[in-house]
Amino acid sequence: IVHWPFSSATQRKKLSWVQLAGHKGNFKAADEGNILKKFSENEMQCFEKLRNDALFPFVPGYHGVVEKDGESFLHMTDLLATFDLPNVMDCKMGVRTYLEEELVRARERPKPREDLYKKMVEVDSEGPTPQEHCQRGVTKPRYMQWRETMSSTNTLGFRIEGIKRSYLSRLTEIQQALKTSEFFKQHEVIGSSLLFIHDHTGNAQVWIIDFGKTTALPDGQMLSHDVPWQEGNREDGYLWGLENLIHTLESVGNE
Ligand code: ATP
Ligand code: MG
Ligand code: MG
Repeated sequence: IVHWPFSSATQRKKLSWVQLAGHKGNFKAADEGNILKKFSENEMQCFEKLRNDALFPFVPGYHGVVEKDGESFLHMTDLLATFDLPNVMDCKMGVRTYLEEELVRARERPKPREDLYKKMVEVDSEGPTPQEHCQRGVTKPRYMQWRETMSSTNTLGFRIEGIKRSYLSRLTEIQQALKTSEFFKQHEVIGSSLLFIHDHTGNAQVWIIDFGKTTALPDGQMLSHDVPWQEGNREDGYLWGLENLIHTLESVGNE
């Protein structure tokens, strides 16, 4: 008798697990129904605070920090586990995907860099200015801001990475929860995504994921999330982006 190491259901799920963003090495398989994401202090703190927040029903289940192969990971629910051959879309929210402090740090040594120049030319040979072409280099802050203009991050406040379908009722619930959430008021939400998942059985869900750059504001300070970003105000355009996303999906029609 041959004993297969996994049940066929587990096997199928493992084979169909997809990761749409981030570095490949950042995720590891865990016990059934769960995954491991590379530890970040910041993201862990967000998950801890979200336990008692209006957003709790919309974020992946969080089961603490675990060690594996000498590295630390956040143990969380695999959102794909309840789907059969899921279609997934990762939609990055907000009008920028870097923190203000990352921009400030990038400006500290604004040397023209050839690697960033090459990356820019690869996407758009007209991207660099004549001067940048001449020196075959662009600075980091220049590159960071240019990169955001290449997607709808700047112009719409959201950017889609993957396949699309509409999930309007769930998005409206999330919009309502965001408006009552204490966590949301008190955090600058950068680089977080809405993860859309559906399959042929009609199972469809949207989850708020990726709190790697979601940062608490000083006590008493709050963001509105729907006014323009001006450097220093820390606004992220999240609600504005969500509104645009909902309207865009509405205008696409019923699929
Ligand atoms: P980046 O900052 O570049 O976006 P990251 O390393 O912070 O990447 P995430 O954005 O959290 O990683 O996740 C990357 C991808 O992994 C997501 O787009 C999604 O496809 C998948 N993923 C993340 N968390 C889960 C989860 N709990 N269940 C299922 N899939 C997930
Ligand atoms: Mg992400
Ligand atoms: Mg991230």
